[in-house]
Amino acid sequence: MTQSREIRLKSRPEGTPIAANFEMATVSVGQPGAGEVLVRNSWMSVDPYMRGRMTDRASYVPPFQIGAALQGGALGEVVASGAEGFAPGDLVSSMYGWREAFVAPAAALEKLPRQNGIPDQAFLGVLGMPGLTGYAGLREIGQPKPGETVFVSGGAGAVGSVVAQVAKAMGCIVVATAGSDAKCDWLRSRGVDHAINYRTCGSLLQAVRTAVQANGKNGGIDVYFDNVGGEHLEVAIEVARPFARFVECGMIANYNDTKAAPGPRNIIQVVGKSLRIRGFIVSEFAALRPQFLGDMMGWIGEGKLAWEETVFDGVEKAPDAFIGLFSGANTGKMLVKL
Ligand code: NDP
Repeated sequence: MTQSREIRLKSRPEGTPIAANFEMATVSVGQPGAGEVLVRNSWMSVDPYMRGRMTDRASYVPPFQIGAALQGGALGEVVASGAEGFAPGDLVSSMYGWREAFVAPAAALEKLPRQNGIPDQAFLGVLGMPGLTGYAGLREIGQPKPGETVFVSGGAGAVGSVVAQVAKAMGCIVVATAGSDAKCDWLRSRGVDHAINYRTCGSLLQAVRTAVQANGKNGGIDVYFDNVGGEHLEVAIEVARPFARFVECGMIANYNDTKAAPGPRNIIQVVGKSLRIRGFIVSEFAALRPQFLGDMMGWIGEGKLAWEETVFDGVEKAPDAFIGLFSGANTGKMLVKL
């Protein structure tokens, strides 16, 4: 028997999640049966979308259940296998995060290659779900052309940092916001043309307007990649050029709202500016994964793409890591090392 500590949802958060919404338990994990695999997790991901699953409402994924272990992306090593194609030592990804070990059917696992010079945990960030989100959302929905201006909110996060750098690799002018000077310095070090600390800039509209006017291209944005919503979305509508494309990826500013937030007060401009506003869930673009991995490995090799990660140690720290997403505790991907 293998002992595994796991994090369960103890109560549904009201507003911003707190430590008391989570509890830790220890369970015994048996040996794998036929077609099953025993995995010891080495890394797990915490992601903003998990906040939605903590609320009891119908969505594109079912809500987490009170008293049950949470779920989410994880990487681990096969310890024992009763399934063809899986052997001890294999690196696998799964949705069995928030726990140290588990037994699962082989069909619930994906075997991953070990990449030379690339740490395993990159498959939870830049080469994983957040990376594909940024890459596919920007390219397929944003459709930026060289010389166009791309505005990305949450620019120093897991998704936003990919968007900012892929947009630069595609020859765009990039305006990005982030919540600290250190995050803005990192964005500038990656070639971002205008990095704005939205917490200290005063009027966000004025700061973004000044940045885009410096481009001399009729002072507007052609693509907005939205990770934040709220005021950022209103500002993007305000500075959008005619026919701008809005990639609605996330609205983290509203995830902890206890009552419905008002919509963008300037939404009427969508008509006059002929804006296209399109939301998406990354699974829509799963088929792009081979192309995504090829392009990303190419840009990494050319030095056009780098990444940061913020790591909490131990499954017991997973709730703190998750809660930290809502105060900007992470630069790049927020991870928990198990
Ligand atoms: P991040 O790594 O960007 O982490 C969250 C960041 O959001 C924080 O570090 C913080 O950075 C910022 N933030 C938190 N609260 C606020 C706020 N009130 N106002 C402004 N910024 C805030 O997370 P991800 O990259 O994983 O996700 C980014 C967005 O993409 C989220 O909205 C997420 O839900 C969405 N997403 C959507 C997917 C899809 O399929 N559509 C898939 C994956 C993610 P700072 O210091 O800059 O404030």
